[in-house]
Amino acid sequence: MNDNSAHIIRCPQCQAANRIPADRFGMAAKCGKCHAQLPTDPAAAEPEASYKMRCTECGAKNRVPGPKINAGAKCGKCGSMLKTEELFTPQPIMVSDGNFENMVLKSPLPVLMWAWAPW
Ligand SMILES: [Zn+2]
Ligand SMILES: [Zn+2]
Repeated sequence: MNDNSAHIIRCPQCQAANRIPADRFGMAAKCGKCHAQLPTDPAAAEPEASYKMRCTECGAKNRVPGPKINAGAKCGKCGSMLKTEELFTPQPIMVSDGNFENMVLKSPLPVLMWAWAPW
């Protein structure tokens, strides 16, 4: 597993996304577009596209790298297949007091957090 080997650093100047290998962190890196200095601080990096999924069987949280999302991801704890296809199925759901727990709290998807944060 080498999924954390690179991070996306967004250029503070031109907003271009630069892919920085982990071993380049702490070294000077420049934006590939405008050549501005990039902050090679892991804390400033966005992780590569990945999805957090809760296992529907055991409830364990799994981090699924974007490239694997269609390749069939399994729960790291119990080995169940994760329902990754649901990530791409728009599901307008009516949430009421009766099903709030099942639909939101036990949802395998990150409810309301389903977006890239622009930090
Ligand atoms: Zn730039
Ligand atoms: Zn599981």
